[in-house]
Amino acid sequence: MIVEVIVDVSAYPIDRPFDYIVPEELKDLVERGSRVHVPFGNRKVQGFITNIKEQTDIDTSKLKEVQSIIDVEPVVTEELLQLSKWMTNKTLCYEIDALQVMLPAALRASYKKNIKLIDSNAVDESFLALFGKKDTITYEVIEKAGYLRQMKKYLTQGSVQLETVIKQHVKAKTITKYNVIATKEYIQNQISNLAKNAVKQRELMEWLLIQEQDSFTMEELKETVNANNNVVKALIEKNILALEKAEVYREITTLEHHDTDHRFQLTEEQSVALEKINHAQNHAENTTFLLHGITGSGKTEIYLNAIENSILKGKQAIMLVPEISLTPQMTRRFKLRFGDEVAVMHSGLSIGEKYDEWRKIWRGEVKVVVGARSAIFAPFKDLGVIILDEEHESTYKQEDNPRYHARDVAIWRSEFHKCPVILGSATPSLESYARASKGVYSLLTLKARAKEQALPTVNVVDMRVELKNGNRSMFSVELADAIREKLDRKEQIVLFLNKRGFSSFVLCRDCGTVVECKNCDISLTYHRSGEQLKCHYCGHEEPVPSICPECASEHIRFFGTGTQKVEEEIAKLFPFARVIRMDVDTTRTKGSHERILKQFGDGEADILLGTQMIAKGLDFPNITLVGVLNADTTLHLADFRAAEKTFQLMTQVSGRAGRHDKEGKVYIQTYTPEHYAIELSKLQMYEPFYHKEMLVRKQYEYPPFYYLTLVQITHENVMLASEYAKLATDWLRANLSEQSMVVGPTACAISKIQNRYRYQCLIKYKKEPILIEKLQQLIKIYRTEWMKKGIILSIDLDPSTIL
Ligand code: ADP
Ligand code: ZN
Ligand code: ZN
Repeated sequence: MIVEVIVDVSAYPIDRPFDYIVPEELKDLVERGSRVHVPFGNRKVQGFITNIKEQTDIDTSKLKEVQSIIDVEPVVTEELLQLSKWMTNKTLCYEIDALQVMLPAALRASYKKNIKLIDSNAVDESFLALFGKKDTITYEVIEKAGYLRQMKKYLTQGSVQLETVIKQHVKAKTITKYNVIATKEYIQNQISNLAKNAVKQRELMEWLLIQEQDSFTMEELKETVNANNNVVKALIEKNILALEKAEVYREITTLEHHDTDHRFQLTEEQSVALEKINHAQNHAENTTFLLHGITGSGKTEIYLNAIENSILKGKQAIMLVPEISLTPQMTRRFKLRFGDEVAVMHSGLSIGEKYDEWRKIWRGEVKVVVGARSAIFAPFKDLGVIILDEEHESTYKQEDNPRYHARDVAIWRSEFHKCPVILGSATPSLESYARASKGVYSLLTLKARAKEQALPTVNVVDMRVELKNGNRSMFSVELADAIREKLDRKEQIVLFLNKRGFSSFVLCRDCGTVVECKNCDISLTYHRSGEQLKCHYCGHEEPVPSICPECASEHIRFFGTGTQKVEEEIAKLFPFARVIRMDVDTTRTKGSHERILKQFGDGEADILLGTQMIAKGLDFPNITLVGVLNADTTLHLADFRAAEKTFQLMTQVSGRAGRHDKEGKVYIQTYTPEHYAIELSKLQMYEPFYHKEMLVRKQYEYPPFYYLTLVQITHENVMLASEYAKLATDWLRANLSEQSMVVGPTACAISKIQNRYRYQCLIKYKKEPILIEKLQQLIKIYRTEWMKKGIILSIDLDPSTIL
């Protein structure tokens, strides 16, 4: 027997499976999708079995043997094996990277396997002997004794169970259970033999006789029969009860007692949209729907209904959100509707917690996963719907290998499972809306807010005028007045500080010098705690200089606006306001998002001040004022999506106000009020924005009119980096067809990161049938020749940013 193995060696020129012979004792154990240890060169490496066959074209005397099995059950399904092949080709990564990304981190770390005896009567004596008096032994004991094959059989029968203990961080959490192990006659017998004064023991035994259940926690025994530890111990000694440490899943989202699940009569628009989705579900059609609904139009309610329909059919559902730890409210809605059928996966969980959730999915114990990007690989076997909320978010694209987009993976899986995909957004990406316009996606539109609330009134404030009038504060007169009014009325306020990238830096007011990172060529970010400057790319830190390094002026100080600075100014302007800050600094610890949002929701503060992370998902009835302090930051990003991102952000932030009964107001402060992205976001005018932006994209030949592929070359030596960038660019120019434009090479906008100089070239094309093939050839040249020189080449098909 031969297995094809994709080995974990991602520096090898060739990416293909290697054949290995399966030794006799492992024959019944190998399965497609399981991992093994194999010799490779003179090393021992991990690999995935992707195929099992009887014969090979290769001379078998040259083949090596599989050394050992890592997984006794596959960790990748047949579907995901196919998906990994597609991803390898689609994103030009190593197949091993595509496989690894599908696994929870716990399985990529080191962990221990234990085998637990479940039914000692069902296994033969020599196997049983391995356990001695214990009920759990390590996998190695069984492996050494040569009993793997039997173990596999018992696993399938359920007479033994596999438990994985993650060494790194956590063990599976256990609770102690007391199981009744005696028959009723035996207990009866024991009762009659009891001493007269053993009242409590008698009570417990008689109680046990009439229970249907045969497993209890100590709390249950104490509460219901008033038993104590000694009585329970006595029954254990009498062989009536036995103690068991059962594995439990770590509980993650806690529901409040007062939370209830509201079910609504759907609005006309909602019903129309849901009917189309249900139709696709009922007829096994893999339609991709673009659900375009303004904020508050009830998209989430549609998701919940579509998932419910899928569960009713006995199928499962994947619900993706951009980064779920930011939206505990969303999770809560799903938990309320579907209870224990929901697994939750996001970056706020520990490795062990994620692994728990993954196992629930693998074992079919849950029907829904709500999670961030990587939840798209949830190993469900029969999907009924896949949903991406806020489909325009760039977090759906993974920025390192494999550079996949969750939307593409969703569509692939929907074809496999014959189920619909729903892409939801108030501000769809231009790409998706263009596809919907062409009929590639099916467009569903929600124009009205679900509760018929009016959209908030949005006022754009020209900060240039403020400055002329002598107002140097970061609050315009209008916004400050509005804040005062809302504070008086005891309503809540959200203040949004646009902080993408480089906004809080140290600047010399005499010569204009900005302090930059010496490794990365970008401005250092000012941190007030400890008066430090930090690089957000490489982690470099230095103290704030007291004089300008260029002109020695003393007028060098922090410029731009950090949340802490705004907080100080709020304290000056509105001394009685209670403020909660939500930014990277206050949300470092686990669960802090939830805590902050809960405090605000419970009315413990008047003002929530935050960055990007408060832009989405917030839904509190008492928020009636939203202020955007600086709309311009995103507008001036060196990126063709700058206008789109600004429009999305402004729309989303405005959507936080007046979602319920009270009317909402929004103030957007900017130095460029005439920009169409800002003007049109005022009225959430998506279509006009779309048409205007499409004209710009067409003129400058950007997506969605052209596809882009970004090729980046980095090296520590600037000469080598530029030389090889030129080589790559020339090679592409010579080898691609005339239908492609190759632009560059140029230094990247961020020209140096972690001491590596960065160059890039862009390929623009409408159609280029030979693109993948040629890029693969270039990769081969890179892997066989350039890699040795320390060059790193990366290729991003469809990049989400080109910084
Ligand atoms: P979106 O996801 O489009 O922003 P939501 O689904 O969160 O919108 O709905 C916005 C608000 O309207 C929520 O408070 C939700 O509970 C409520 N809602 C949704 N659908 C209905 C409905 N059919 N009738 C009444 N209220 C609804
Ligand atoms: Zn200076
Ligand atoms: Zn740096």
